[in-house]
Amino acid sequence: MKKDDCIFCRIANGEIPSRTVFEDYAVRVILDLSPATKGHALIIPKDHFEDLYELPEEYLTHIAVVSKKIGQLMKEKLGTDGLNVVQNNGETAGQTVKHYHMHLIPRYRDDGQNILWEPHTLEDAVMDGILGELTAE
Ligand code: AMP
Ligand code: ZN
Repeated sequence: MKKDDCIFCRIANGEIPSRTVFEDYAVRVILDLSPATKGHALIIPKDHFEDLYELPEEYLTHIAVVSKKIGQLMKEKLGTDGLNVVQNNGETAGQTVKHYHMHLIPRYRDDGQNILWEPHTLEDAVMDGILGELTAE
């Protein structure tokens, strides 16, 4: 299902032009309008799902396969040194467009980007508490 007022629905279905790298029955891969690095692309499903929680499971394998295909294309054609596969869910996590999309961010030595987090150390008791919360019936 498409959502009329959703820009990514309109882009994915070709109603708004985009720089399309790849397209098939389920997804369109476009160049990001404000790229983090050269070749930064987005895999966008043609149907509307707000985020990972809404995305049907059958899309997961397909999107993973497309991410590998396009990642390899970037390596061959752009000479990338690495690849970040990033997918934000919810405003707190940095999601600005409320239509599921996966970022493919090719990396180059000294590209000045930093897609990492600050690692923390938690005490064993705290770690065990978190594990208990996640695995409680
Ligand atoms: P996120 O913050 O994960 O929701 O990412 C949204 C991404 O969509 C950002 O990287 C934007 O630069 C990109 N973006 C927003 N509008 C467009 C557009 N019309 N065409 C291509 N990329 C877009
Ligand atoms: Zn949409």
